[in-house]
Amino acid sequence: MTQNILVLPGDGIGKEIVAEAIKVIEVLKADFGLDVELSHGLIGGAAYDEYKHPYPEETQKLAHAADAILLGAVGGYEYEALPRDLRPERGLLGIRADLKLFSNLRPAILNAELADASSLKPEVVSGLDIMIVRELTGGIYFGEPRGIRELENGEKQGYNTLVYKESEIEQIAHSAFQIAMKRDKRLCSVDKANVLEVMELWHEVVERVGKEYPEVELSHMYVDNAAMQLVKEPKQFDVMVTGNMFGDILSDAAAMLTGSIGMLPSASLDINGKGMYEPIHGSAPDIAGKNIANPLATITSVSMMLRYSLDHIELADKIDAAVEAVLKQGLRTQDIFADAEGTTAVSTSEIGDAVVSALRSL
Ligand code: NAD
Repeated sequence: MTQNILVLPGDGIGKEIVAEAIKVIEVLKADFGLDVELSHGLIGGAAYDEYKHPYPEETQKLAHAADAILLGAVGGYEYEALPRDLRPERGLLGIRADLKLFSNLRPAILNAELADASSLKPEVVSGLDIMIVRELTGGIYFGEPRGIRELENGEKQGYNTLVYKESEIEQIAHSAFQIAMKRDKRLCSVDKANVLEVMELWHEVVERVGKEYPEVELSHMYVDNAAMQLVKEPKQFDVMVTGNMFGDILSDAAAMLTGSIGMLPSASLDINGKGMYEPIHGSAPDIAGKNIANPLATITSVSMMLRYSLDHIELADKIDAAVEAVLKQGLRTQDIFADAEGTTAVSTSEIGDAVVSALRSL
Protein backbone atom coordinates (compact mmCIF):
# COMPACT_ATOMS: atom_id res chain seq x y z
CA MET A 1 0.00 0.00 0.00
CA THR A 2 1.27 3.46 -0.89
CA GLN A 3 2.50 5.31 2.19
CA ASN A 4 2.14 9.06 2.55
CA ILE A 5 4.97 11.34 3.65
CA LEU A 6 4.02 14.88 4.61
CA VAL A 7 6.82 17.33 3.79
CA LEU A 8 7.02 20.47 5.94
CA PRO A 9 10.09 22.50 4.92
CA GLY A 10 9.41 25.33 7.38
CA ASP A 11 11.69 28.37 7.37
CA GLY A 12 15.24 29.54 6.66
CA ILE A 13 17.45 26.76 5.34
CA GLY A 14 14.49 24.36 5.78
CA LYS A 15 13.44 24.66 2.13
CA GLU A 16 16.97 24.10 0.78
CA ILE A 17 17.81 21.06 2.89
CA VAL A 18 14.40 19.43 2.44
CA ALA A 19 14.75 19.84 -1.35
CA GLU A 20 17.87 17.63 -1.18
CA ALA A 21 16.07 15.02 0.92
CA ILE A 22 13.26 14.95 -1.64
CA LYS A 23 15.80 14.19 -4.39
CA VAL A 24 16.84 11.15 -2.36
CA ILE A 25 13.23 10.01 -1.89
CA GLU A 26 12.60 10.38 -5.62
CA VAL A 27 15.57 8.11 -6.44
CA LEU A 28 14.33 5.50 -3.97
CA LYS A 29 10.94 5.63 -5.70
CA ALA A 30 12.34 5.47 -9.22
CA ASP A 31 15.17 2.99 -8.77
CA PHE A 32 14.48 0.98 -5.62
CA GLY A 33 10.70 0.46 -5.65
CA LEU A 34 9.82 2.66 -2.67
CA ASP A 35 6.04 3.09 -2.80
CA VAL A 36 5.36 6.51 -1.25
CA GLU A 37 3.56 9.68 -2.23
CA LEU A 38 4.47 13.11 -0.92
CA SER A 39 2.09 15.75 0.36
CA HIS A 40 3.26 19.28 1.14
CA GLY A 41 2.32 21.70 3.91
CA LEU A 42 3.40 24.76 5.84
CA ILE A 43 4.63 25.08 9.41
CA GLY A 44 6.34 27.74 11.53
CA GLY A 45 6.89 31.19 10.08
CA ALA A 46 5.92 30.06 6.57
CA ALA A 47 2.54 28.94 7.93
CA TYR A 48 2.14 32.17 9.87
CA ASP A 49 2.73 34.18 6.67
CA GLU A 50 -0.02 32.28 4.88
CA TYR A 51 -2.53 31.43 7.64
CA LYS A 52 -1.55 33.67 10.59
CA HIS A 53 -0.84 30.54 12.66
CA PRO A 54 2.37 28.45 12.99
CA TYR A 55 0.43 25.14 12.96
CA PRO A 56 -2.78 25.86 11.07
CA GLU A 57 -5.75 23.55 10.61
CA GLU A 58 -4.75 22.83 7.00
CA THR A 59 -1.42 21.40 8.21
CA GLN A 60 -3.10 19.54 11.07
CA LYS A 61 -5.33 17.68 8.60
CA LEU A 62 -2.36 16.72 6.43
CA ALA A 63 -0.37 15.62 9.49
CA HIS A 64 -3.12 13.32 10.73
CA ALA A 65 -3.51 11.75 7.29
CA ALA A 66 0.23 11.09 6.80
CA ASP A 67 2.17 7.92 7.71
CA ALA A 68 5.28 9.97 8.49
CA ILE A 69 6.39 13.59 8.42
CA LEU A 70 9.63 15.15 7.22
CA LEU A 71 10.31 18.57 8.71
CA GLY A 72 13.09 21.04 7.84
CA ALA A 73 13.33 23.67 10.58
CA VAL A 74 11.36 26.64 11.85
CA GLY A 75 12.18 30.15 13.00
CA GLY A 76 13.47 33.45 11.71
CA TYR A 77 14.45 36.93 12.89
CA GLU A 78 11.33 38.46 11.31
CA TYR A 79 9.06 36.48 13.66
CA GLU A 80 10.78 37.36 16.93
CA ALA A 81 8.39 40.21 17.75
CA LEU A 82 5.27 38.03 17.46
CA PRO A 83 3.32 37.04 20.59
CA ARG A 84 4.73 33.80 22.05
CA ASP A 85 1.75 31.69 20.91
CA LEU A 86 2.20 32.65 17.27
CA ARG A 87 5.97 32.22 17.05
CA PRO A 88 7.29 29.59 14.61
CA GLU A 89 8.64 27.39 17.44
CA ARG A 90 5.07 27.05 18.74
CA GLY A 91 4.27 25.24 15.52
CA LEU A 92 6.73 22.52 16.50
CA LEU A 93 5.34 22.15 20.01
CA GLY A 94 1.84 22.17 18.51
CA ILE A 95 2.43 19.33 16.07
CA ARG A 96 4.27 17.22 18.69
CA ALA A 97 1.37 17.59 21.14
CA ASP A 98 -1.33 17.16 18.48
CA LEU A 99 0.16 13.88 17.21
CA LYS A 100 1.11 12.70 20.73
CA LEU A 101 4.75 12.22 19.75
CA PHE A 102 6.04 11.06 23.13
CA SER A 103 9.22 9.24 22.13
CA ASN A 104 12.10 11.38 20.95
CA LEU A 105 14.95 9.54 19.24
CA ARG A 106 18.22 11.41 19.20
CA PRO A 107 21.12 9.56 17.61
CA ALA A 108 24.70 10.67 18.13
CA ILE A 109 26.65 9.19 15.27
CA LEU A 110 30.15 10.13 14.24
CA ASN A 111 31.32 8.94 10.85
CA ALA A 112 34.95 7.92 11.06
CA GLU A 113 35.80 10.50 8.35
CA LEU A 114 34.66 13.36 10.60
CA ALA A 115 36.32 12.21 13.83
CA ASP A 116 38.52 15.32 13.83
CA ALA A 117 35.42 17.56 14.14
CA SER A 118 34.88 16.41 17.73
CA SER A 119 36.42 18.20 20.67
CA LEU A 120 37.27 14.74 22.08
CA LYS A 121 40.15 12.57 20.93
CA PRO A 122 39.37 10.71 17.67
CA GLU A 123 39.91 7.30 19.30
CA VAL A 124 37.27 8.10 21.95
CA VAL A 125 34.57 9.08 19.44
CA SER A 126 35.43 7.60 16.05
CA GLY A 127 32.61 5.28 14.96
CA LEU A 128 30.34 6.48 17.78
CA ASP A 129 26.73 5.31 17.37
CA ILE A 130 24.41 6.03 20.32
CA MET A 131 20.64 6.38 20.30
CA ILE A 132 19.12 8.43 23.11
CA VAL A 133 15.40 7.83 23.63
CA ARG A 134 13.92 10.79 25.50
CA GLU A 135 10.38 10.92 26.92
CA LEU A 136 8.96 14.05 25.29
CA THR A 137 5.48 14.80 26.56
CA GLY A 138 5.64 14.33 30.34
CA GLY A 139 7.92 14.86 33.32
CA ILE A 140 8.88 18.15 34.89
CA TYR A 141 8.29 20.24 31.74
CA PHE A 142 4.56 19.50 31.95
CA GLY A 143 4.00 18.50 35.61
CA GLU A 144 1.46 20.37 37.74
CA PRO A 145 1.45 22.29 40.00
CA ARG A 146 3.90 24.80 38.59
CA GLY A 147 4.39 28.51 38.91
CA ILE A 148 5.96 31.28 40.94
CA ARG A 149 4.28 32.08 44.26
CA GLU A 150 4.83 34.54 47.02
CA LEU A 151 5.67 33.15 50.44
CA GLU A 152 4.36 34.60 53.71
CA ASN A 153 7.55 36.59 54.20
CA GLY A 154 7.08 38.19 50.77
CA GLU A 155 9.88 36.18 49.15
CA LYS A 156 9.08 34.64 45.77
CA GLN A 157 9.37 30.87 45.21
CA GLY A 158 9.44 29.12 41.86
CA TYR A 159 8.24 25.51 41.67
CA ASN A 160 7.73 22.71 39.17
CA THR A 161 6.68 19.12 39.63
CA LEU A 162 8.46 16.01 38.36
CA VAL A 163 5.74 13.41 37.82
CA TYR A 164 5.54 10.18 35.83
CA LYS A 165 2.66 7.71 35.81
CA GLU A 166 3.38 4.00 35.40
CA SER A 167 1.62 4.06 32.01
CA GLU A 168 3.88 6.87 30.75
CA ILE A 169 7.02 5.02 31.82
CA GLU A 170 5.76 1.78 30.31
CA GLN A 171 5.11 3.52 27.01
CA ILE A 172 8.57 5.06 26.67
CA ALA A 173 10.23 1.87 27.94
CA HIS A 174 8.49 -0.21 25.26
CA SER A 175 9.54 2.31 22.62
CA ALA A 176 13.17 2.14 23.79
CA PHE A 177 13.26 -1.67 23.98
CA GLN A 178 11.81 -1.86 20.46
CA ILE A 179 14.52 0.50 19.19
CA ALA A 180 17.17 -1.59 20.98
CA MET A 181 15.80 -4.71 19.23
CA LYS A 182 16.57 -3.01 15.87
CA ARG A 183 20.13 -2.21 16.99
CA ASP A 184 22.74 -3.88 19.20
CA LYS A 185 20.15 -4.99 21.84
CA ARG A 186 21.71 -3.08 24.75
CA LEU A 187 19.62 -0.56 26.69
CA CYS A 188 20.79 1.70 29.51
CA SER A 189 18.01 3.38 31.52
CA VAL A 190 19.12 6.67 33.06
CA ASP A 191 17.46 7.89 36.27
CA LYS A 192 18.14 9.44 39.64
CA ALA A 193 16.51 6.72 41.73
CA ASN A 194 18.92 7.28 44.62
CA VAL A 195 17.32 10.68 45.34
CA LEU A 196 13.90 10.93 43.63
CA GLU A 197 10.89 8.70 44.36
CA VAL A 198 9.52 9.27 40.86
CA MET A 199 12.76 7.81 39.51
CA GLU A 200 12.50 4.83 41.85
CA LEU A 201 9.22 4.09 40.09
CA TRP A 202 10.90 4.72 36.71
CA HIS A 203 13.59 2.14 37.55
CA GLU A 204 11.04 -0.43 38.73
CA VAL A 205 8.76 -0.06 35.69
CA VAL A 206 11.62 -0.20 33.15
CA GLU A 207 12.88 -3.37 34.87
CA ARG A 208 9.36 -4.88 34.63
CA VAL A 209 8.91 -3.99 30.94
CA GLY A 210 12.38 -5.45 30.30
CA LYS A 211 11.05 -8.94 31.16
CA GLU A 212 9.14 -8.78 27.88
CA TYR A 213 12.38 -8.24 25.94
CA PRO A 214 14.68 -11.01 27.19
CA GLU A 215 17.05 -10.53 24.25
CA VAL A 216 17.84 -6.96 25.30
CA GLU A 217 20.58 -6.50 27.90
CA LEU A 218 19.22 -3.87 30.32
CA SER A 219 21.36 -1.75 32.63
CA HIS A 220 20.63 1.28 34.84
CA MET A 221 22.75 4.35 35.45
CA TYR A 222 22.31 7.50 37.53
CA VAL A 223 22.13 10.62 35.41
CA ASP A 224 25.24 12.28 36.88
CA ASN A 225 27.30 9.19 36.10
CA ALA A 226 25.70 8.95 32.64
CA ALA A 227 26.86 12.50 31.89
CA MET A 228 30.41 11.59 32.94
CA GLN A 229 30.41 8.33 31.00
CA LEU A 230 29.14 10.05 27.84
CA VAL A 231 32.19 12.26 27.85
CA LYS A 232 34.67 9.68 29.14
CA GLU A 233 33.78 6.54 27.20
CA PRO A 234 30.77 7.23 24.96
CA LYS A 235 31.20 4.14 22.81
CA GLN A 236 30.06 1.92 25.72
CA PHE A 237 26.42 2.91 24.98
CA ASP A 238 24.02 1.51 22.40
CA VAL A 239 20.53 2.81 23.37
CA MET A 240 19.85 5.06 26.38
CA VAL A 241 16.33 5.80 27.67
CA THR A 242 15.49 8.63 30.02
CA GLY A 243 12.90 11.19 31.09
CA ASN A 244 12.19 14.54 29.47
CA MET A 245 14.59 16.85 31.32
CA PHE A 246 17.53 14.44 31.65
CA GLY A 247 17.05 13.51 27.98
CA ASP A 248 17.01 17.14 26.92
CA ILE A 249 20.41 17.70 28.48
CA LEU A 250 22.08 14.37 27.70
CA SER A 251 20.97 14.33 24.06
CA ASP A 252 22.47 17.75 23.39
CA ALA A 253 25.70 16.76 25.15
CA ALA A 254 25.85 13.54 23.12
CA ALA A 255 25.13 15.43 19.89
CA MET A 256 28.07 17.71 20.53
CA LEU A 257 30.40 14.73 20.90
CA THR A 258 30.13 14.58 17.14
CA GLY A 259 31.06 18.24 16.70
CA SER A 260 28.80 18.84 13.71
CA ILE A 261 25.26 20.15 14.05
CA GLY A 262 24.52 19.69 10.35
CA MET A 263 24.96 15.91 10.51
CA LEU A 264 22.41 14.76 13.09
CA PRO A 265 18.84 13.65 12.44
CA SER A 266 16.10 13.03 15.01
CA ALA A 267 12.68 11.44 15.27
CA SER A 268 9.61 11.84 17.45
CA LEU A 269 7.27 8.85 17.49
CA ASP A 270 3.72 8.16 18.62
CA ILE A 271 2.53 4.92 20.18
CA ASN A 272 1.97 3.31 16.76
CA GLY A 273 5.40 4.21 15.44
CA LYS A 274 4.14 7.07 13.27
CA GLY A 275 6.75 9.77 13.46
CA MET A 276 8.05 13.19 12.61
CA TYR A 277 11.65 13.30 11.37
CA GLU A 278 13.84 16.39 11.39
CA PRO A 279 17.45 17.53 11.69
CA ILE A 280 18.38 18.62 15.22
CA HIS A 281 19.57 22.04 14.06
CA GLY A 282 17.42 25.14 13.57
CA SER A 283 16.58 27.25 10.54
CA ALA A 284 20.04 28.91 10.44
CA PRO A 285 18.80 32.28 9.17
CA ASP A 286 22.42 33.49 8.99
CA ILE A 287 23.11 31.20 6.03
CA ALA A 288 19.61 30.78 4.53
CA GLY A 289 19.27 31.17 0.76
CA LYS A 290 23.01 30.82 0.12
CA ASN A 291 23.07 27.15 -0.94
CA ILE A 292 25.75 26.39 1.66
CA ALA A 293 23.76 24.61 4.42
CA ASN A 294 24.51 20.97 5.14
CA PRO A 295 21.53 18.80 4.07
CA LEU A 296 22.93 15.50 5.39
CA ALA A 297 21.02 15.61 8.71
CA THR A 298 17.79 15.99 6.73
CA ILE A 299 18.78 13.20 4.35
CA THR A 300 19.59 10.88 7.27
CA SER A 301 16.24 11.91 8.80
CA VAL A 302 14.70 10.17 5.78
CA SER A 303 16.83 7.14 6.57
CA MET A 304 15.48 7.14 10.15
CA MET A 305 11.94 7.48 8.80
CA LEU A 306 12.38 4.42 6.60
CA ARG A 307 13.85 2.48 9.54
CA TYR A 308 11.47 3.42 12.34
CA SER A 309 8.11 4.33 10.71
CA LEU A 310 7.91 2.93 7.19
CA ASP A 311 9.66 -0.39 7.80
CA HIS A 312 12.13 -0.26 4.90
CA ILE A 313 15.30 -1.05 6.80
CA GLU A 314 17.20 -2.11 3.67
CA LEU A 315 16.53 1.29 2.04
CA ALA A 316 17.55 3.10 5.24
CA ASP A 317 20.84 1.18 5.12
CA LYS A 318 21.31 2.30 1.51
CA ILE A 319 20.92 5.98 2.39
CA ASP A 320 23.39 5.62 5.25
CA ALA A 321 25.85 3.87 2.95
CA ALA A 322 25.46 6.60 0.30
CA VAL A 323 26.14 9.34 2.87
CA GLU A 324 29.18 7.43 4.10
CA ALA A 325 30.42 7.08 0.50
CA VAL A 326 30.08 10.82 -0.12
CA LEU A 327 32.07 11.61 3.04
CA LYS A 328 34.71 9.09 1.95
CA GLN A 329 34.95 10.93 -1.38
CA GLY A 330 36.00 13.95 0.70
CA LEU A 331 32.98 16.12 -0.15
CA ARG A 332 32.13 18.58 2.65
CA THR A 333 29.76 21.50 3.13
CA GLN A 334 31.41 24.47 4.85
CA ASP A 335 30.26 23.48 8.38
CA ILE A 336 32.24 20.22 8.25
CA PHE A 337 35.01 21.39 5.93
CA ALA A 338 38.55 21.28 7.25
CA ASP A 339 41.17 22.29 4.74
CA ALA A 340 42.73 18.85 4.66
CA GLU A 341 44.14 16.85 1.77
CA GLY A 342 41.49 14.95 -0.13
CA THR A 343 38.57 17.14 0.91
CA THR A 344 36.56 19.45 -1.35
CA ALA A 345 34.16 22.20 -0.27
CA VAL A 346 30.77 21.80 -1.96
CA SER A 347 27.34 23.45 -1.86
CA THR A 348 24.04 22.16 -0.49
CA SER A 349 22.82 21.00 -3.88
CA GLU A 350 26.19 19.52 -4.89
CA ILE A 351 26.38 17.28 -1.82
CA GLY A 352 22.71 16.31 -2.33
CA ASP A 353 23.50 15.35 -5.93
CA ALA A 354 26.51 13.37 -4.74
CA VAL A 355 24.31 11.35 -2.35
CA VAL A 356 21.92 10.65 -5.22
CA SER A 357 24.78 9.44 -7.46
CA ALA A 358 26.20 7.31 -4.66
CA LEU A 359 22.76 5.75 -4.11
CA ARG A 360 22.44 4.94 -7.79
CA SER A 361 25.81 3.24 -7.89
CA LEU A 362 25.30 1.07 -4.78
P1 NAD B 1 20.59 26.99 14.43
O1 NAD B 1 20.71 25.53 14.65
O2 NAD B 1 19.65 27.43 13.38
O3 NAD B 1 22.03 27.59 14.02
C1 NAD B 1 23.17 27.53 14.87
C2 NAD B 1 24.45 27.68 14.02
O4 NAD B 1 24.65 26.47 13.29
C3 NAD B 1 24.35 28.80 12.98
O5 NAD B 1 25.61 29.41 12.83
C4 NAD B 1 23.98 28.07 11.69
O6 NAD B 1 24.43 28.72 10.54
C5 NAD B 1 24.66 26.72 11.89
N1 NAD B 1 23.90 25.65 11.23
C6 NAD B 1 22.72 25.12 11.66
N2 NAD B 1 22.31 24.18 10.81
C7 NAD B 1 23.24 24.09 9.84
C8 NAD B 1 23.37 23.31 8.66
N3 NAD B 1 22.45 22.40 8.30
N4 NAD B 1 24.45 23.50 7.88
C9 NAD B 1 25.38 24.40 8.20
N5 NAD B 1 25.33 25.18 9.30
C10 NAD B 1 24.26 25.03 10.10
O7 NAD B 1 20.26 27.65 15.84
P2 NAD B 1 19.95 29.18 16.21
O8 NAD B 1 20.81 30.08 15.38
O9 NAD B 1 20.05 29.23 17.67
O10 NAD B 1 18.43 29.40 15.82
C11 NAD B 1 17.99 29.94 14.58
C12 NAD B 1 16.48 29.79 14.49
O11 NAD B 1 16.13 28.42 14.47
C13 NAD B 1 15.74 30.39 15.69
O12 NAD B 1 14.57 31.01 15.22
C14 NAD B 1 15.42 29.18 16.56
O13 NAD B 1 14.28 29.38 17.35
C15 NAD B 1 15.17 28.14 15.50
N6 NAD B 1 15.39 26.75 15.94
C16 NAD B 1 14.55 25.83 15.38
C17 NAD B 1 14.74 24.49 15.66
C18 NAD B 1 13.86 23.50 14.96
O14 NAD B 1 13.22 23.83 13.99
N7 NAD B 1 13.83 22.23 15.40
C19 NAD B 1 15.76 24.08 16.53
C20 NAD B 1 16.61 25.05 17.08
C21 NAD B 1 16.41 26.39 16.76
